[in-house]
Amino acid sequence: MSGARPPAATGLPLFPVTTIGSWPRPRWLLDAVKKRAPDLPALMDRASEEAVRAQLDAGVDILCDGEQRRDNFYSFLCERVDGMRLMTMADLLDYVEDKAGFEGMLSALDVPAYAMKNPTVTGPLRAKGSLVLDDCRFLRRLSPKPRKATLPGPYLLSRSTWVKGLSEAAYPTRESLADDVVALLRGELRLLADEGVEFVQFDEPVLSEVVLAGRSATRTFMCAALAAKSSPTGELELAVDLLNRVVEGIEGPVIGIHVCRGNWSRKDEVLLSGSYDPLMPWFAKMRLGLFALEWATPRAGPVEVLGLLPRSAILGFGAVNPRTETVEDPQSVALRARRVASILGPERVQLNPDCGFGTFAERPVNDADTARRKLDALVEAARILRRG
Ligand SMILES: [Zn+2]
Repeated sequence: MSGARPPAATGLPLFPVTTIGSWPRPRWLLDAVKKRAPDLPALMDRASEEAVRAQLDAGVDILCDGEQRRDNFYSFLCERVDGMRLMTMADLLDYVEDKAGFEGMLSALDVPAYAMKNPTVTGPLRAKGSLVLDDCRFLRRLSPKPRKATLPGPYLLSRSTWVKGLSEAAYPTRESLADDVVALLRGELRLLADEGVEFVQFDEPVLSEVVLAGRSATRTFMCAALAAKSSPTGELELAVDLLNRVVEGIEGPVIGIHVCRGNWSRKDEVLLSGSYDPLMPWFAKMRLGLFALEWATPRAGPVEVLGLLPRSAILGFGAVNPRTETVEDPQSVALRARRVASILGPERVQLNPDCGFGTFAERPVNDADTARRKLDALVEAARILRRG
């Protein structure tokens, strides 16, 4: 397990700026993907280089590759793991019992049924090679700056990829799938640790759905809403257990999770709302060194609950909203971050947007230009904070 380290130990300044992962894909890349262009790998490299260049030009301290090689933050596993098939929400409608209800929910919650794709388990999972190691190596060729690898979390994966009617032949229950998911992620984590990757972030956005949506009574949607869930306590116990099994005994990178309230629509009213408070006791049980959480949105509630974060953990403070056109004022960002630093200590605070700028390839929540200006605002806020 990796706890918080003083910035000096990682070569990072105070209030290092980073992203949550995804960057809007250029139109030419999306067209090439659609046409299955023969030079797609080279085009993906070029898009990744542009995404990294934007971060470097802004002055970001910890680099992500922008997830240009992915359709979304977890769908890419289909290309890198045997036993998974990419299906759109529209495809999955055939496997939902209450089809009309599900369709109604997708439309009410502004979910793009064709643009949102879900990796679905259809056979035994087996990694074809590494999951993101090559992407991290590509990053190193562009810059010596610290890197952050982003991976879907074990809870998200074991919940969302198991679909009744498609997955039982390989795994009778989603719990039986979880062991292989843990092994898959542990294997990758070891590779990343050996490579010297500085940060690894597991995306577990569905955790907020577990505590904020109530027990399937409220119609809500996140990528994993397809799977039935047990009680919130049962789900959270499972999530803690899976994450701890993935990271156990692996030294080197600072390992963390990202939890937001959904990032599929610009319509704020369709996204989940509520404090991190009910998650805090569960975060405390996770042997993690970093929690990247959203705080730019007022839907996240007051920052005072941050006092409950494990003392050994760094906070990735979500300080700009990835879904709005308006670019935040660096002074206000710095003011809020200073308040957070007074709770946690300045050495435990990183600055990042609330979530990715381009979670779903076909429907990014922002354009690259606005995304860049939001990174500029974060970097400027970090400068103000370091001066202060
Ligand atoms: Zn997010």
